[in-house]
Amino acid sequence: MNILNFINGKFVNPINNEWLENYNPSSGEVYSQIPNSSKEDVEEAYKSAKSAFMQWSQTTFEERSRILINISELLETNLQQFAEAESLDNGKPISLAKSVDIPRAASNFRFFGNAITQFASESHESVGQNAINYTLRQPIGVVGCISPWNLPLYLFTWKIAPALAAGNCVVAKPSEVTPMTAFLLGEICIEAGLPKGVLNIVHGLGTTTGQAIIEHPDIKAISFTGGTGTGAHIAKVAAPMFKKLSLELGGKNPNIIFADCDYEDMLNTTVRSSFANQGQICLCGSRIFVEASIYEKFKADFVDKVKALKVGHPSEKDTNIGALVSKPHLEKVKAYITIAKEENGTILCGGNEVTVQGYENGYYLEPTVIEVPNDECRVNQEEIFGPVVTIMPFNTEDEVLQMANKVKYGLSATLWTNDLKRTMRLSNQLQAGIVWVNTWMMRDLRTPFGGVKASGVGREGGFEALRFFTEAKNVCIKY
Ligand code: NDP
Repeated sequence: MNILNFINGKFVNPINNEWLENYNPSSGEVYSQIPNSSKEDVEEAYKSAKSAFMQWSQTTFEERSRILINISELLETNLQQFAEAESLDNGKPISLAKSVDIPRAASNFRFFGNAITQFASESHESVGQNAINYTLRQPIGVVGCISPWNLPLYLFTWKIAPALAAGNCVVAKPSEVTPMTAFLLGEICIEAGLPKGVLNIVHGLGTTTGQAIIEHPDIKAISFTGGTGTGAHIAKVAAPMFKKLSLELGGKNPNIIFADCDYEDMLNTTVRSSFANQGQICLCGSRIFVEASIYEKFKADFVDKVKALKVGHPSEKDTNIGALVSKPHLEKVKAYITIAKEENGTILCGGNEVTVQGYENGYYLEPTVIEVPNDECRVNQEEIFGPVVTIMPFNTEDEVLQMANKVKYGLSATLWTNDLKRTMRLSNQLQAGIVWVNTWMMRDLRTPFGGVKASGVGREGGFEALRFFTEAKNVCIKY
């Protein structure tokens, strides 16, 4: 089957008629062709967005809200189809796509459809100067949204929904390895009544299609989620054009466990925060630090639970760990297991590829726990982004805080303790955009989301996203 670009409300072939192969990671087989879009396709998408902008930006907020909520409802109605497509494209268990990815994509449209109705701007009376200042929040124009492969529709819509809600028109590119649900979204947008040209989706390689978006002089803002290296490249390209940027990048997040925590809850959640989505979530707690007094017990219990996880075909109900997204990614993750051994790490469990009967060419890997000799080794510092976690003990709060912060990243941190004062001390000092205490990945869409240090620039979520996708203009009137 062919995936097509969605431009000006129509599904179209790439202008150069060049195609890329799209693999099913659970079987290793090619199952679709996607456009290898060029600069010319991006230009068509831009022109279509530009011509739709005047009308869309003048559309009442009630009408924009209504259309976004329509999209949300249609995603919910088509949950099964979207979940199957996401699982097929990405290799994630279908149960996860059904319970997390697609419902959260629907929530993105519902949330921002509602949020735009509450998005107020400020006014200030300049007493003594007989003047009033008020702030206009104006849509930027045509904006670019670029998303990764790990949570394909969830992160694609996390950007598109607030951009559209705020009155912008969009040129968007999903990851070339997971284009399917973005393709299906086009049909839903037509059905929901989104005017043509408001959302344009171009498929292709990051280095050509994505590059054409970030280089486009009239695409004035870029919302990007992906790797830190790509984020740095985008910042460099965008700087001379003064584009507005929101960069949500990589993570190497600490999961800090104190002896006074609720042990069972911590243990079960830590299995999830380590291996959900095959460990391919930027927020996964991939560095586990355990207070020395419970370290040996935790190690034994954790390894038992990890060994019990079932690696299997994504469509099977009891599969916990599906396939990794691609062959190159599988090779990258495996290389880190070799590095761990070279660095005197101990593989406590996992470390090997898995052959799933009937799908022998799929990209399956055992969930892997590495006991590391110190916190500075590469597997403890670099983002692996697969089903691999490190563990090591700590003795004092100061020691663990120092180790937790001693990475280039700063996306999230998880803390397990029942000591309130310790919670407050550490939450203040952990270098991260999000700190979870006694939970993981609990999301409230009203809250700001993003990272510090090499994990990103800017915040999305709630009104932060609507602020990003608008320009604030101050008007001062003397009376
Ligand atoms: P990449 O940075 O490789 O790609 C992300 C997106 O950018 C893809 O659509 C990619 O296209 C595109 N891209 C690549 N090169 C360029 C370019 N020169 N110009 C414009 N676009 C480009 O990341 P991955 O897809 O590998 O995703 C994994 C990364 O994403 C991890 O580091 C992870 O931590 C991070 N991430 C961060 C999150 C956060 O919220 N902070 C959430 C989820 C993931 P293509 O796929 O075609 O190459």
